[in-house]
Amino acid sequence: MTRLANVLGRAALVTDEGGIDVETASEGRFAADPQALYERWEEFMHWTAHVTPDAGGGAPFEIAEADLLSPAPFPAQVFAIGLNYRDHAAETGAELPERMAVFTKFPTCLTGGFEEVVLPETGSVDWEVELVVVIGKRAHKIADWEAWSHVAGVCVGNDLSERILQRAAGNQFSMGKSFPGFGPMGPYLVTPDELTEPDDLPLSCTVNGEVMQSSRTSEMVFGVSRIIEELASVVQLLPGDVIFTGTPAGVGWVKNRFLQPGDVLESTIEGIGTIRSKVVGP
Ligand code: ZN
Repeated sequence: MTRLANVLGRAALVTDEGGIDVETASEGRFAADPQALYERWEEFMHWTAHVTPDAGGGAPFEIAEADLLSPAPFPAQVFAIGLNYRDHAAETGAELPERMAVFTKFPTCLTGGFEEVVLPETGSVDWEVELVVVIGKRAHKIADWEAWSHVAGVCVGNDLSERILQRAAGNQFSMGKSFPGFGPMGPYLVTPDELTEPDDLPLSCTVNGEVMQSSRTSEMVFGVSRIIEELASVVQLLPGDVIFTGTPAGVGWVKNRFLQPGDVLESTIEGIGTIRSKVVGP
């Protein structure tokens, strides 16, 4: 039962008493770098089960939202799944995919959940609230039933997409989804054992308080286990890798509405938390 935050580049456990700095509390056994923890995830999980708030002579501290960076800031690989919700396929008039559609968001687009989103010059940036999975154990050629055991945790993400560029180059989505700040994720990593129904989580997204997306992860065409099984049937998944699992109905381009400077984009998954991005002009 762990919540792991990246507080200004330092790993911290999120507890009722406040943040516990991992490097201090572990007396240097684990380094401050959150990304490095995924390499030793099982060992780290054992340690977190016994840590006390005053371990290592430290004291719990108040975590400010603005200081929260991505819980997996520098993954080797970032995967994203296209057209993966039944309600989203229906709103776009597309047939349900028989094969999973995979693209990447280049890792430099990842940010924390409370950073500003700077719009590029072309103005058709769209929202996509998504469940984001972070891998905690190397996976290659595994069965779907064991897939969740390779997950370190999940967080809330938004797969921000510049729609003109996304469609400009032969259906290769990745460039339109990789501007700096286009992968907000947070507020922190939540281990799967904290979730009573990890495959049926309500998720939603609002712009200036107006609900744009509202669905459940059980609407996925390929659920988390299938996604990991399919990816690992080809690619070797590494600890700390990030997977954006697809977005439900309610994206902007269907109603020809895009993000404008001054907008506040909020994305929520029940049981995990909320992230909030202020949108600013180029
Ligand atoms: Zn997406």
